[in-house]
Amino acid sequence: MEEVIIIGTGCAGYTAAIYTARASLKPLMISGMQPGGQLTTTTEVENFPGHPEGIMGPDLMVKLQQQAERFGTRIQYANVESVAKMADGSFVVKAGEETLEAKTVIVATGATARYMGIEGEMELIGRGLTACATCDGAFYRDVPVCVVGGGDSACEEAEFLTRFASKVYLIHRRDELRASKIMADRALGNEKIEPVWDSVITEYLTDEKGDVRGLKLKNVKSGDESELALDCVFMAIGHTPNSGFLGDLVERDDAGYIKQVPGRTATKTAGLFAAGDVADSFYRQAITAAGQGCAAALEAERYLTELG
Ligand code: NAP
Repeated sequence: MEEVIIIGTGCAGYTAAIYTARASLKPLMISGMQPGGQLTTTTEVENFPGHPEGIMGPDLMVKLQQQAERFGTRIQYANVESVAKMADGSFVVKAGEETLEAKTVIVATGATARYMGIEGEMELIGRGLTACATCDGAFYRDVPVCVVGGGDSACEEAEFLTRFASKVYLIHRRDELRASKIMADRALGNEKIEPVWDSVITEYLTDEKGDVRGLKLKNVKSGDESELALDCVFMAIGHTPNSGFLGDLVERDDAGYIKQVPGRTATKTAGLFAAGDVADSFYRQAITAAGQGCAAALEAERYLTELG
């Protein structure tokens, strides 16, 4: 039986691993569909303390992994399907083909990019539709692309894409960006970025090969419809927390974020802790996720001490 299983390898998970490993708990981490979490799909991270010149998201995650492994963390790659609590208080974690047992579980599974929900949309992923500018931006040189959304992510991605694309449309459903002022100003001040206000996608237009070649848009104020020719759509309309696999072990808010005991990382189930974006709809920052990972590790350690 493991002392602690940490599910998820983002900032929260790795920080929980560093702390529990240094406490000699030999954590086992389960890394799912997106090893390294959301920062692996980010470019430069300028606001993570200790990196005055900034650091590339994937580089930061490699460093966190190395730091966690240095103290004895083990990492296993599998998709966790379910977690159950047994009568003796232990947990059974179904991860791929394996059934694992642990005294405590730290859930740090983060959140996944959202898409519009238009029929047939999922089949276009990788064919001119993506939620990762870092991964796919360089494929679209000297052609028009768009970013959908009005938050910090949309602005950041739009700016990043100006390195490659001939033009970046920023399609937002309102006439005001949600992004922080500094990021909104930067995006709107970039001559390659053209905002398309009050507009939503109603249809993806594709060519004979099935690749995205444009969009049908609707102006939500006037009702006018229009078409926009472009080669790639970068979705940046937020994320959905990955908490579904926990069943009734946790309480969630309306959006699916895990409810923690106020001021703690504990959940309604003793021995089950939640850290990072899966439980945080408010801050959603790498450093706050790391802080919660630390808190979850300390709480798990205390819980194990009390178990005796
Ligand atoms: P977000 O702040 O939730 O913004 C999502 C955007 O998508 C909003 O503008 C929203 O429109 C729009 N949207 C949502 N659902 C939509 C739909 N169905 N159709 C069309 N548009 C839709 O998400 P985010 O930009 O990913 O940022 C998440 C968090 O990470 C934030 O706290 C942000 O500050 C942080 N972040 C920070 C940085 C940085 O500091 N470097 C970078 C990226 C993200 P409305 O505005 O109308 O709601």
